Amino acid sequence: QPQSWEARADEYSLYGFTDLPSVQKRGAVVLTHGEGPYVVDVNGRRYLDANSGLWNMVAGFDHKGLAEAAKAQYDRFPGYHAFFGRMSDQTVMLSEKLVEVSPFARGKVFYTNSGSEANDTMVKMLWFLHASEGKPQRRKILTRWNAYHGVTAVSASMTGKPYNEVFGLPLPGFIHLTCPHFWRYGEAGETEEQFTARLARELEEVIQREGADTIAGFFAEPVQGAGGVIPPSAGYFQAVLPILKKYDIPMIADEVITGFGRTGHTWGNQTYDFVPDAIISSKNLTAGLFPMGAVILGPELADRVQAAVEKIEEFPHGFTASGHPVGCAIALKAIDVVMNEGLAQNVVDLAPRFEAGLKRLAQNPNIGEYRGVGFMWALEAVRDKASKTPFEGHLSVSERIANTCTDLGLICRPLGQSIVLCPPFILTEAQMDEMFDKLEQALTRVFAEVA
Ligand code: PLP
Repeated sequence: QPQSWEARADEYSLYGFTDLPSVQKRGAVVLTHGEGPYVVDVNGRRYLDANSGLWNMVAGFDHKGLAEAAKAQYDRFPGYHAFFGRMSDQTVMLSEKLVEVSPFARGKVFYTNSGSEANDTMVKMLWFLHASEGKPQRRKILTRWNAYHGVTAVSASMTGKPYNEVFGLPLPGFIHLTCPHFWRYGEAGETEEQFTARLARELEEVIQREGADTIAGFFAEPVQGAGGVIPPSAGYFQAVLPILKKYDIPMIADEVITGFGRTGHTWGNQTYDFVPDAIISSKNLTAGLFPMGAVILGPELADRVQAAVEKIEEFPHGFTASGHPVGCAIALKAIDVVMNEGLAQNVVDLAPRFEAGLKRLAQNPNIGEYRGVGFMWALEAVRDKASKTPFEGHLSVSERIANTCTDLGLICRPLGQSIVLCPPFILTEAQMDEMFDKLEQALTRVFAEVA
């Protein structure tokens, strides 16, 4: 009797970020290919992937132009690095393009293979920069609770999640501020504006307590993604940026999810109307077709890092595949496809329909809040709506909802007790309706069971 694909997956693989009992109960899903926003498993079952893979497959799973760009570059020049003053023509063109589409008039780009490595790289760049400017004590990194910045030792330390305690992380010097989620963390009687002002005061108090000249930088996702899709409270970035500026602390926008159209603009920083000192990009950068990350420095940091490199004579950092020509060719094509073939526009056009669908589902007495922007949204399940009392346990109900959705042919993600929806940008109105129909069936079924 040959083993099933699902059993072989279980026997030979370790899953990342997987609640094992839940998979053991439901079984793995082993996929062979995709069609538009759908993925198809070894048994021929189709699933509408309302997660875009992991937020990244924004052009869906069978975009011909992207595959052709990859093939053409594999044929022309299939691999190279970006060390020793050498790099491919594609790498040069992508850096120009990234600066062109960034909010910066000038800038410089450094490549990695992932978002985690891009955050690590940015932290090392800040340490390098401050040390070269005679301030080696400027090493502390400020981030927020519920932030997700990656999994390497440094980026996991930046991530504000209790699960990293099993690794003995965060490393010393990584400080987490309050998550700007007014619905959950606002105090009784506090307005949203007062909440934002409280978070700004907290930031300034932390800077004064720690000493501004011990802090290397502040990192924030414009919308916290893996924290459960948390847009900032009203005026958050407008309140925080002047304080960072006052103490000369660089502000880095982690746009790994929010970059390239996800929030309805090219960047989340445009949606929330601020200009950071640098941008971290990955995921959508290649529409998920190549593992790649980028640090995009604005003019001031670009000049300061350049001066540091000239002083020290070398930035001793980089990955074998940094600026890989195939990755860069795919990214150039992906940016073109998303911005010029109507994908980013589809996000803008369908966002109101998305919100209307969620607003309707949020009338359910077990949905406490719906929140999001563009094509990244979440519904938060609660035991009691009025008091916002959560369901017991970490994933108890959200995971049941997501598993029921999988059975119905819809992939969505449980994050805390929220259900996250971040479909590919190619989603049609009919596919959006299918997503809501299946989700509604799952919510009805699961809430009836747990009530
Ligand atoms: N930063 C943000 C905002 C992310 O959402 C992620 C991944 O989900 C990362 C960084 C890490 O990227 P990667 O998984 O490519 O290392």
